[in-house]
Amino acid sequence: MNKKSIRDIELYGKKIFLRVDYNVQFSGDRILDDHRLRESIPTIQYLRDKGARIILCSHRGRPAGQIVEELRNDLVAKHLSSLLGTVVKACPVSIGPQAQDDTDALEPGELLLLENVRFHAEEEDNDDVFAQQLASLADIYVSDAFGTAHRAHASVVGVPKYIPGVTGLLLEREVEYLTKVTDDPQKPLGLVLGGAKVSEKLSILSFLSDRADVICVGGGIANTFLAAQGIDIGGSLAEHDRIDDAFLIMRKAAERDDLKLVLPRDVVISDPSGEIIEAVSVNRIPPEFRILDIGPETIDDFRAALAPMSTIAWNGPMGFFEREPFDVGSLAVAKILADLQNVTTVVGGGETAAAINRAGVLEDISHCSTGGGASLQLLEGRILPGLEALPDK
Ligand code: ADP
Ligand code: MG
Repeated sequence: MNKKSIRDIELYGKKIFLRVDYNVQFSGDRILDDHRLRESIPTIQYLRDKGARIILCSHRGRPAGQIVEELRNDLVAKHLSSLLGTVVKACPVSIGPQAQDDTDALEPGELLLLENVRFHAEEEDNDDVFAQQLASLADIYVSDAFGTAHRAHASVVGVPKYIPGVTGLLLEREVEYLTKVTDDPQKPLGLVLGGAKVSEKLSILSFLSDRADVICVGGGIANTFLAAQGIDIGGSLAEHDRIDDAFLIMRKAAERDDLKLVLPRDVVISDPSGEIIEAVSVNRIPPEFRILDIGPETIDDFRAALAPMSTIAWNGPMGFFEREPFDVGSLAVAKILADLQNVTTVVGGGETAAAINRAGVLEDISHCSTGGGASLQLLEGRILPGLEALPDK
């Protein structure tokens, strides 16, 4: 990557404003998924080893400029402390005299987590004065909040206007892997696309269909493709105003010898009451039944189509994976990716990452992104404001 990183600068004794994405959920005091915290540790350790004084900043949820008690960052600080085995102090504010005193008091290697930055409406408004107030706490801005890099908010793009900005190790890794898919990928390139809405996936489809050799489509978005084939999809969700777009992609694949589009051959359906659940051919969907997952033959098709790939990107679950047994297709795709050897596998999307975790194969995936919207934006070939805000090497 051509951006300056923490490896390129002097860090000892410097106050670092480290923007991370700790937008995590709790059930009571228990954190539900700490993937994002764990992924930020290499940067934190690097900065500590170099004797930097670390001021962490993150948002949580959508407090819309208000103080929301459940969205305070103190539980995050506590969990991070236990992961790091060292104290991470929680500051009850993000700016102002107490933030100044607490950050001034940091010794080299010490950590402080500022309060949820979205308690200030100025954060999402990308207010310059607010950005300046945040920047005044530190000497250097380090961006590691990949999950928020597609947002032009004050702590993402504003702060590095006032103090020098560099990337952290997570941001660097995210961009490195996601651009392995978009920029000159090791061919053949496969794309597995799912999720609920085809309208949200048209940009990635149109961008990657010019680069990919194989595109496997599952999930709710496949319904629109099936409908475009003239198949009766019963009571399944489909975007009927996107049938033309699906048709265009199918035509592109039909015209190009070097692009294979794999659509579901069979699907798992359920009746409205949820009592009947069965796998059927896509040509045998009774009225009112809904498609909720890809079927076993389709899983086999995807496995066979993906086997020769050198690079594979996956975004979007293959079905309504939050509910058993409609998670079978997504877990199978996770396993297919994990079992491939010498293939660069890149997974993006919040729910897709959850499926990888549920399948227990995180270790066997080359890169599972911490960002949903941001990873999609990169896979669509678009730039990220949070990256643009940082100076080149
Ligand atoms: P990601 O967060 O990984 O980018 P999306 O947000 O695009 O993924 O899509 C995830 C959602 O799509 C999940 O909530 C899942 O239940 C839903 N989904 C996928 N396939 C279907 C389907 N056939 N019917 C209903 N919902 C589906
Ligand atoms: Mg999602």
